[in-house]
Amino acid sequence: MELCRASLVCRSWLEAANDERRTRGPTYFIQNCKELLANEKLSMERIKMQSIKKLQIKPALGLFFTAPSIPFSEPDCHCKVLPPNCDTVTLGTHGVVFNNREIEGNVENIVCAFLPEVPDVTIKTFVIGDNSATKNDVSMSVENYSEEIKKVLRTSEKSPNRSKCLLLFCDLRGRNLAVKLSNSLRKSYTTDELSVWGGIAKDLLVCNAKDSKNDRCGEFAFCVGITLTGALDTWSIIVGRSYMTKDRVEQRMKSFRNRVRLKKHSIGFMFACFARGEYMFDECNVESTIFKKYFPEIPLVGCFGDGEFGKNSLPNESNKKAKWYNVTSTIFLIITYG
Ligand SMILES: [Zn+2]
Repeated sequence: MELCRASLVCRSWLEAANDERRTRGPTYFIQNCKELLANEKLSMERIKMQSIKKLQIKPALGLFFTAPSIPFSEPDCHCKVLPPNCDTVTLGTHGVVFNNREIEGNVENIVCAFLPEVPDVTIKTFVIGDNSATKNDVSMSVENYSEEIKKVLRTSEKSPNRSKCLLLFCDLRGRNLAVKLSNSLRKSYTTDELSVWGGIAKDLLVCNAKDSKNDRCGEFAFCVGITLTGALDTWSIIVGRSYMTKDRVEQRMKSFRNRVRLKKHSIGFMFACFARGEYMFDECNVESTIFKKYFPEIPLVGCFGDGEFGKNSLPNESNKKAKWYNVTSTIFLIITYG
């Protein structure tokens, strides 16, 4: 906000402010809420609100990874302080990931990731929710959703060096729908042009800034798709169920590292099945630690879920028949731009 004010002074201040803005990339942090919740009777929403107020970027998309959400009343919601055109999705999960820490069975930590407004990048959110503002949302067929998402993804096709990425989340009620949606979309994206990342959470809560056409607040959704298109590079990789040892995961990550080309700002996302983690490796933090070994400069955020959506977006690795819905796998995504 201060940067915005400074940019109004004159042209040279505007240029200086814009230069400064370009140095600020995606923002991520972890907040332990135990004391806050106990001492000040703060709701999770207040904590989210405080974290948005402290941001030094103007967010265009916010993701919160938390324990399952507790219903709250609208006036408490964090979306009051969101800037225009910013959507947030809160995933109630089985555990959270923050850099090389995996907190399985998490109850008291919130992991947040915010993407700033990036020139020539468009972010769109598609929600199939409980109390959708558009009445036909729920009755709309999977094919219609699939067509809408394809239409948005298509807009980035004309110019070269444009990437596209789909984040796909659902809760258990929305699993069949999301799997159908992913199968329908899959047929149109058989090469490495599209990255896909996401999975099944315990619950999904969607909000957006209040200027938006589809005003949503604290709405539990059963399926959410987010498209990112334009001047960014994205890479996704499936560490599938056959990668059950540290060595195998490390091999996979090494080949991923060799193919990824990083730009100025980057952020990594991890969506792991809760049947992996400590249960599979007999030790904590295995996959996040391996990621950070090969990508020490990239922040990593994410969660544990119960079913994953992903696609190998590496050249020569796209299998036309490979389904996007996976089990007992970990999906990594890297977004890089600038
Ligand atoms: Zn709200």
